[in-house]
Amino acid sequence: MNGRTKYILDESKLPKAWYNINADMPVPPEPVLHPQTLEPVTPDFLSVLFPMSLIMQEISTEPYIEIPEPVREIYKLWRPTPMFRARRLEKALDTPAHIYYKYEGASPVGSHKPNTAVPQAFYNKEAGTKALTTETGAGQWGSALAMACNFFQMDLEVYMVKVSYQQKPYRRMVIENYGAEVFASPTNRTQYGRSVLAADPNSPGSLGIAISEAVEVAATSGGTKKYSLGSVLNHVLTHQTVIGEETLQQMEMADEYPDIVIACTGGGSNFGGFAFPFVRENLRHGKTTRIIAVEPAASPSLTKGTYTFDYGDTAKMAPVVKMHTLGHSFVPPAIHAGGLRYHGMSPQVSALVEHGYVEARAVQQLATFAAGDLFMRAEGIIPAPESTHAIRVAIDEALKCKETGEAKVIIFNLSGHGHFDMASYDAYRKGELQDYEYPAEAIVQAMADLPQVKG
Ligand SMILES: *Cc1c(COP(=O)(O)O)cnc(C)c1O
Repeated sequence: MNGRTKYILDESKLPKAWYNINADMPVPPEPVLHPQTLEPVTPDFLSVLFPMSLIMQEISTEPYIEIPEPVREIYKLWRPTPMFRARRLEKALDTPAHIYYKYEGASPVGSHKPNTAVPQAFYNKEAGTKALTTETGAGQWGSALAMACNFFQMDLEVYMVKVSYQQKPYRRMVIENYGAEVFASPTNRTQYGRSVLAADPNSPGSLGIAISEAVEVAATSGGTKKYSLGSVLNHVLTHQTVIGEETLQQMEMADEYPDIVIACTGGGSNFGGFAFPFVRENLRHGKTTRIIAVEPAASPSLTKGTYTFDYGDTAKMAPVVKMHTLGHSFVPPAIHAGGLRYHGMSPQVSALVEHGYVEARAVQQLATFAAGDLFMRAEGIIPAPESTHAIRVAIDEALKCKETGEAKVIIFNLSGHGHFDMASYDAYRKGELQDYEYPAEAIVQAMADLPQVKG
């Protein structure tokens, strides 16, 4: 056995194609529906929001999609990212398990989000888009798209959930530093924002509301502005598969193959990007890796939600998709993992969970911070609160190995660092954080407002 800690791929090993799991999906895809007619959408409807190249990727069933050379050139600023063997964490846990992690916090903005921000900006620029609009919660996505729009010299309007705008001034400044405009959502710049403010002038905002505002601005721009989404959609998960494709090569360098693959899920993009290449190996090549999606108990779409058609946003302007949902009007409790506070889930991840190809697990806030703390003390990196969800389950699985004496190979995706989340760690150390009961009543209420889809 070699004693390596870091597995670094040469730039020449940067993948040349993304993997599109639609080619191997064991269940047929569900249609995407128009939010008003609830009939399958036409590319025409989607083209108000997205360039045709991304729409074609959204519905493509080709197994591999070539990464354009200008995108690969920018990827090389931080990719391939390192994979680590967490030897010090193994020791701290006294487990026979082999624990690995892939580190996406190595990107310039500190998360996996630029893996799709850069190609989305590229394809929009190529299609002649002048400006993009988007939403951001904790600010990770806004930072990534601001960096990407700066590279391709496009304007960007970011609708940032108001509580985060107030609580995370440094994320707001990062976005502005790259040259984008940031607005605290709900704003009075949109019809929907004004209606929310009229009903509640002190609305803290939510991801669903911010999406509605960004969609409205693009849809009413007369074609000059397009909308960009940082998760959930097929093309976003496809772009993120560069993570898993690199990891497969790095596991080969380590001369091991994972028994368990783990990532956290907000809208599903880092999970899909990391895990789908391993799902492919299971489906096509008879591997039997267990694949686990981890979500917060406060926003438990995969473990407690319903697999049904729902709107992607609060104002019912975004397309309707079949997914695990808690109801589009559900506003998750204010957990510190802001990137995981979403009512729905990627349709691809949902389908794989529904049909048993992927396991889902929900974890409580305090347990995730305890895991993040343990990880930091052993490995040095302060993980993003979102990523601590994956760490929690990796540690739990490693502790099971300690009981059984099995030397399982466990790998998780460390989706980002937590340098802009120090107020959350501060609150944790001061004992100010709490767990949340399953928000049953709010979910029942939200589920009463689902679209009435025929058939
Ligand atoms: C946004 C974010 C997430 C959650 O989004 P997914 O689309 O589910 O990946 C997880 N981790 C980090 C660090 C994020 O920034």
